[in-house]
Amino acid sequence: MLTPPSLPCPDSVAIHRLAASDTHFVIELTACRGEVPCPDCAHLTHRLHSRYCRTLADLPLQDKAVSLVLHSRKFFCTNGACKTRVFTERFPDLVAPYARRTLSLHQALHFIGLALGGRAGAALARALKMHASRDTLLRSLQGFATGRGSSASRDAPRVVGIDDWAFRKGQRYGTILCDLERHCVIDLLADRSSQSAARWFRDHPTIEIISRDRSGIYAQAARQGAPQALQIADRWHLLKNLGEMLQRVVERNYQHLRQAARDQAKKNAARQTDEAQTEDGFCRFNSGLAVPVITTTPVARGPTRAQEKSHCQRERRQTRYQAVVELHQQGVGKRAIARTLGLSRMTVRRYLRAGEFPEIASRGAKGRELPKQIDAHREYLSVRWEQGIRSGTVLWNEIRARGFTGSLTAVYRLLRLWRAQDPAAVKNSVAGAAPRCVSIPSPRQVSWWLLYPEKAQSQAYRREGVQPTRQAKALIETFQEVSHPVRAVTSRGREFIEMMANRQADCLDRWLEEATHENVPELTHFVKSLRQDYSAVHGALHFEWSNGQVEGQVNRLKMIKRQMYGRAGFVLLRKRVLAD
Ligand SMILES: [Zn+2]
Repeated sequence: MLTPPSLPCPDSVAIHRLAASDTHFVIELTACRGEVPCPDCAHLTHRLHSRYCRTLADLPLQDKAVSLVLHSRKFFCTNGACKTRVFTERFPDLVAPYARRTLSLHQALHFIGLALGGRAGAALARALKMHASRDTLLRSLQGFATGRGSSASRDAPRVVGIDDWAFRKGQRYGTILCDLERHCVIDLLADRSSQSAARWFRDHPTIEIISRDRSGIYAQAARQGAPQALQIADRWHLLKNLGEMLQRVVERNYQHLRQAARDQAKKNAARQTDEAQTEDGFCRFNSGLAVPVITTTPVARGPTRAQEKSHCQRERRQTRYQAVVELHQQGVGKRAIARTLGLSRMTVRRYLRAGEFPEIASRGAKGRELPKQIDAHREYLSVRWEQGIRSGTVLWNEIRARGFTGSLTAVYRLLRLWRAQDPAAVKNSVAGAAPRCVSIPSPRQVSWWLLYPEKAQSQAYRREGVQPTRQAKALIETFQEVSHPVRAVTSRGREFIEMMANRQADCLDRWLEEATHENVPELTHFVKSLRQDYSAVHGALHFEWSNGQVEGQVNRLKMIKRQMYGRAGFVLLRKRVLAD
């Protein structure tokens, strides 16, 4: 028999032989104790009954699977009083009775199962040369006691956070309990009821502080199960309630915000209006033309790629035209000009005959002739175009009032032509144009900006694009000026946030008193709810404990639940969540 020092093995066996193939190590072990205890009466015996062989899977070695062939024995129990007559030899430090895997392999599979669940765990185990099906992994979880969670709960928690979590959102909920001092989950309960939570609190009489959300269920459970404990309302939930309260106030006063937006839109439009505006609302020109001034400027879109291309072509043509004219003025003949510039003689002749740059503008964008009728309104339309009116519909309506009977499409075609010729004007008009109306932010957004003006200005929110624009800021300022309830609740809300951030529990009474006098129904209701839960709210403003880490553990729970595609039962989920 040999026992190489590089392969340690339990005292109860000795290594007998070692064989290796390409994929396997086979280690033969022989039981070597002189006397063994009876598993029933622990009486030591050496009366051999028989020998037999067990094959066990062990942890892999050097990237090869390991099989142990264990030569084991059966013994007679020599204790006359014992009911057992024959028993198999036990190896408590190597393998469990009847097991086909060694304890160390079983434990490794258990931890893989805990970390990854069935299917993913089985894939990892296979890669590590530890063959086990996904069912085996899940069974190994069922068999083991829960890990650190159970020991922590034995360690008598003092500060506990409680919250709910969803089996299925909106339908079925459970309860999670965390030890806030040790930063771990202590227990999961299968439902969200005050009875089961109270029962759990009763089983843990060492609890001194309970941090909870603002729902009545856990408050009642804490009162019933742990009357000795101090309750603390979660600060995040308090702030959430505050924000929702302000949002209701904003919703009720939303018409003021709409009015402020309308006023601002008018102001913007007035700034845009031509200075030539006269008292009767008409813009008069030297030619005697009078054009009505409209107070909103439509937003013009930038030129399309096709329009830019067409504009470039026109510029090239114009350059070519200038070159022809210059050469002609220098006395160069038509044939020589055509040769020099690479143009046909026909083109040179056409350019020179035209007298001015021949626009292709006489044809519509799709090559169709523009109706002659529109020529009568060209001057009017071009004046309006220069003023920055780019909307075909607006212009069509205007010239219809002046007697134009043609279609809207004709106006569109003309405008398309002008846009192609002058994309810069379109661009400028985009930059300078005031929007038709000022967009109104949602009540939720407004209430958030009102409560956290500094945060809303921060770099992070600029990146996320949720920062208020300059226009929205002006709008909100006007909104506060005109609406007393919004102004009052905003200022009280900011005080409350500051009080909470600085843990100024002493100021709570005064704040509650002053807030009641604001006479805003929503605020009064909020104050009432705080008074009903006074000691917990006071605790939130006094202690550092909060439910933040419970929320984090709920996220971890969700991740584990989704890893198992939501198919794990409560027992398995609990084991995985409680394991660290
Ligand atoms: Zn016995």
